[in-house]
Amino acid sequence: MRLPKRHQIDLLDNPVLPVHKRGRDLLYDPALNKGTGFPDSERDALGLRGLVPPQVVSIDDQVRRVMENYRRKDQDLERYIHLEALHDRNETLYFRVLLEHLRELTPIIYTPVVGQACQAFGHIYRRARGMYFCARASAYFREMVYNWPEDDVDVIVVTDGSRILGLGDLGTNGMGIPIGKLSLYVVGAGIYPEKTLPVMLDMGTDNAALREDPLYLGDRRPRLPDKQFYPVVDAFIRAVRERWPHVLIQFEDFSNRHAFQLLARYRDQMLCFNDDIQGTGAVTLAGILSALRITGTSLDQQRVLFQGAGSAARGIADQIVAGMRDAGLSLEAARSRVWMVDSQGLVIRDRLKSLAEHKRDFAHPGPPLKRLEEIVRWVRPTILIGVSGQPGAFSESVVRTLCQQVERPILLPLSNPTSKAECTAEQAYRWSEGKALFASGSPFPPVDYRGKRFVPGQGNNLYIFPGVGLGAVLCRAKRITDRMFYAAARTLADQVSEDSLAMGSLYPDLGLIREISAQIAAAVWQVAAEEGVAQIEPPADLLGQIKRHQYYPRYLPYEAA
Ligand code: NAD
Repeated sequence: MRLPKRHQIDLLDNPVLPVHKRGRDLLYDPALNKGTGFPDSERDALGLRGLVPPQVVSIDDQVRRVMENYRRKDQDLERYIHLEALHDRNETLYFRVLLEHLRELTPIIYTPVVGQACQAFGHIYRRARGMYFCARASAYFREMVYNWPEDDVDVIVVTDGSRILGLGDLGTNGMGIPIGKLSLYVVGAGIYPEKTLPVMLDMGTDNAALREDPLYLGDRRPRLPDKQFYPVVDAFIRAVRERWPHVLIQFEDFSNRHAFQLLARYRDQMLCFNDDIQGTGAVTLAGILSALRITGTSLDQQRVLFQGAGSAARGIADQIVAGMRDAGLSLEAARSRVWMVDSQGLVIRDRLKSLAEHKRDFAHPGPPLKRLEEIVRWVRPTILIGVSGQPGAFSESVVRTLCQQVERPILLPLSNPTSKAECTAEQAYRWSEGKALFASGSPFPPVDYRGKRFVPGQGNNLYIFPGVGLGAVLCRAKRITDRMFYAAARTLADQVSEDSLAMGSLYPDLGLIREISAQIAAAVWQVAAEEGVAQIEPPADLLGQIKRHQYYPRYLPYEAA
């Protein structure tokens, strides 16, 4: 017998969840477990008497206990393990803890600490979560998908572990990323946990140290050549879409050798996006639009310089260009205002033949400059963005040069984790004498400079992808379009209060994430309908309907099925 699922029961006026498990089986099912939170009536009805201590504890007190233990840990990795252990024991409590302490815990379950967790994945591993599709077993993918117990999966986040944050090829250890991102989907947007599926597409690894690590859990062979890589991804996509035809697939942390091609291959065929490219683009554009509220200038007047010319740079550049076009510039004129620097120096027309495809649209006529300071002097950017994973690249002389040319430069060192940031918040404010409009990829604490407190914003993709995903899933979008991300960026920028701007924050308070995601979902649904890709038309009370479908982690009453 198929029992109704939580997402169906939750919509009822007096929801009661029928459960077919009893006793220890119930306590050991993280989706159903309430631990000490089972009331006496359920302890009687479900064979739990004596299996938990006598005191019935409220979820608020359970949250308190988790946080008390959490704060006793003195290492971030231990904090991560503590939270994941809870995830494995009691999902409702895990998500409630995250939701109530989002600002404190996001840096642990996501960047920067998830980077450490990925590096140590095989060593801290306790229990499987999500699915592993090993390239060498691609012939079995179509059968394997039926091993997953849920019939309704709305969102898959998939990586091949080839470029985890700024840390490079971590092979199967990269699984921490889909797990973390999907937790953020649940808390950020209110996607039901049972409708999420983290996936590792194990293509092998070229990381020699990992291959020699006896505790490494992935395939130890070298990564597959391209000729075999794409058919394996095709097989994976076919298998999951055969079982879950409406699923949204988010590509995550694929090396840029494949990221662009995968997006180009699938984006017009199915519901998918690449967060490193499109999500990053939208969240960064939102930060820039907020900064322009302070400078009083418009997007089409900006000159943009990227340090780094990979997935993130291209994604952000495309969104900025879309914004400039919206403001009236032609495609060529918009692109001519955007410059990139890669490991060989300024990306210029003379290098066209040897440039990767994704850099070519931004290769303009210019001198073969190599040093960033010289490049800044020549390009005269109003916006400098770091997405190179090169810590210290925004040196004091680079920041000072920038400030000599522009009254209020926008400075965005986005590389993650914190150890990779091009400069710190403190350096940015000090070297620019408080003039830089700053946001970073990893969080930095507030900075006191010359009697003023600056609260740096974090250009966290968390502001964008959950809302985009929620909107796309609820309207059963056939595809994700660029206009959806553009609408998401504008919606996010509109949520930044004047008070936040006055403290130098280019992003809203993360504590508002549910409201922000609901607003973004509404904007995305609206655009999807306008573009003819929504299979469900927006209801009259669009925002209200979206909020009604957001999962909130609380204990539902149970009855024996
Ligand atoms: P990527 O590997 O696709 O690109 C890195 C780029 O940096 C490449 O173009 C490379 O040529 C360039 N580079 C390397 N060394 C350089 C040097 N010395 N000087 C100039 N350029 C150099 O990676 P990506 O996906 O573009 O991500 C880059 C960084 O941005 C990562 O650290 C990632 O964590 C961060 N990121 C942040 C956010 C965010 O904050 N919201 C989102 C996505 C990515």
